[in-house]
Amino acid sequence: MTLLQLDNVTKRFGGLVAVDGVSLEIDTGQFVGIVGPNGSGKTTLFNLISGVFFPEEGHILFEDTDITRMPPFKRAPLGIGRTFQIPRPFSSETVRENIAVGAMFGRMGKELSVDASMEVADQLIERLDLTAHRDKAAGTLTPIEKKMLEIGRALAMKPKILLMDEAMAGMHPSDIDQMVAFLKQIAGEENIALVAMVEHIMRAVLGMAEKVIVLHQGAKLVDAPTQEALNDPRVVEVYLGG
Ligand code: ADP
Repeated sequence: MTLLQLDNVTKRFGGLVAVDGVSLEIDTGQFVGIVGPNGSGKTTLFNLISGVFFPEEGHILFEDTDITRMPPFKRAPLGIGRTFQIPRPFSSETVRENIAVGAMFGRMGKELSVDASMEVADQLIERLDLTAHRDKAAGTLTPIEKKMLEIGRALAMKPKILLMDEAMAGMHPSDIDQMVAFLKQIAGEENIALVAMVEHIMRAVLGMAEKVIVLHQGAKLVDAPTQEALNDPRVVEVYLGG
């Protein structure tokens, strides 16, 4: 079932076309890699889906709702979640409190009690292997631990779709494998569509994706099942050609 649909979406910054007539569909529970070199429009695309920017042209549908011009704070409760490349936790709050805040306010506009939110946080902390850090201030975590926390905060909001901004960049390959396996498992259990932004062809991430969408200079170049996309000569050319 189609969860998110972009129909001929264009976003310009002055004379620059950052996203150029992109149409795409993401299904419920699907794991999709958004690939493209630096400057190809990946971040702008995420910003259009999460409502940071509105497109000049085209439409964005989430389930049956036209969200093209819906402000971001109304999109999160619909189930559109996002992690940022640079994690932004509340530094002086603990890991547990940071995740609990996500649980408290995210869920389709239904607020959870403090106790119930803490319970959600504890379950996620265990699954994310952050138990030893549960009561530490988020600001004291290592960069990798902050990324795990960022993913925990996003998952606590029970998204239907999770947009991951280079969430795994800079991670050790074995940590990436573990993270991807974890995300796939939790996404499968909770039927979350995962959309992972990947600047470089990261086979660890893409190996688990069902399909890959390749952007080049703001336009969609390829949209195909993963193996087919990775073997497409145009994709190789985009990366070799810079
Ligand atoms: P990517 O995430 O693939 O690196 P971006 O979406 O960040 O690509 O950028 C696409 C293009 O849009 C780039 O040329 C970038 O300089 C431009 N761009 C992105 N955001 C802005 C902005 N807020 N103002 C002006 N230009 C922008």
